[in-house]
Amino acid sequence: MKKRFIAGAVCPRCSEMDKIVMYEKDGINYRECVECGYEDEMPVAGLANEIPTRVNEKPAKPQVAEQVLNFVDPSKK
Ligand SMILES: [Zn+2]
Repeated sequence: MKKRFIAGAVCPRCSEMDKIVMYEKDGINYRECVECGYEDEMPVAGLANEIPTRVNEKPAKPQVAEQVLNFVDPSKK
């Protein structure tokens, strides 16, 4: 199972940033805080841009387990 850190995500329980990982289990997406152990099921609709709708178009590339998603606002630098 691959887990990916969500850059800029804040844990709703411990308020730590960049501690949230996202992973998929049994076709359901979950997010988990590596800091405090918080776990939550993520609605699929909220991940529309993450889920390939046409799997066949995606080459079977090996994914890095700790791929960091960078959607941090570059203007905040
Ligand atoms: Zn937490």
